[in-house]
Amino acid sequence: MILRRLGTPPSLPELQREHRACHRCVDAGFITRAHPVFSGHAGQRILLVGQAPGPVETDQTRPFAGRAGRVLMRWMIRAGFDDESDVRQRVYMTAMTTCFPGRKHDGSGDRRPSAREVTLCAPWLDSLLATLRPRLIITVGSLALSRFLPGRRLDDVVGGAFTHRGAALRGRPREQAILPLPHPSGQSRWLNEATRLALLDRALQTLRRLREWTETDA
Ligand code: SF4
Repeated sequence: MILRRLGTPPSLPELQREHRACHRCVDAGFITRAHPVFSGHAGQRILLVGQAPGPVETDQTRPFAGRAGRVLMRWMIRAGFDDESDVRQRVYMTAMTTCFPGRKHDGSGDRRPSAREVTLCAPWLDSLLATLRPRLIITVGSLALSRFLPGRRLDDVVGGAFTHRGAALRGRPREQAILPLPHPSGQSRWLNEATRLALLDRALQTLRRLREWTETDA
């Protein structure tokens, strides 16, 4: 791992180059083909972490390029981004596992990565956090939430913002902030209740405020 070898965070291009060459999950027998999907560049102050790419994202090598991505982009525009290209310009996008995990055995959707796959991919996310040092981390879905706010449920956190220690954030952040969103995938049933739509509204208002903060110098 780059971090262990050098003792300091790698440059982002170096990290991305090594990440793209990763095939740990193939070696471990979880997938037949590694094709890491993430996007972003140095200087971006917002990091968005999803669950895992799907087949469309893999074909295009672009996170959130499919149907769930279109929903996510509509949410981001509601939170104050101009359009999809503005989102992609401002937000580094990655996932808890960055290769498509394949379909479920019953064909009812994409497979949720196992805990072991998440562990195998975690060093890439750890290195990215050390290198990019984002001001705002947006978690998308329950798997990403479990990494940044372990033990918390979407119902308890969507609408709020948190410090990296898990404390509720009040007022203007002084340090890195975490904003949880539900997953926009049609596979997620979380948004089927009207009360949760209200939580999403509140989350997008919070995101608007935090997005503005990420653009300030303080
Ligand atoms: S999911 Fe992550 S750890 Fe697994 S092969 Fe892809 S990049 Fe490597």
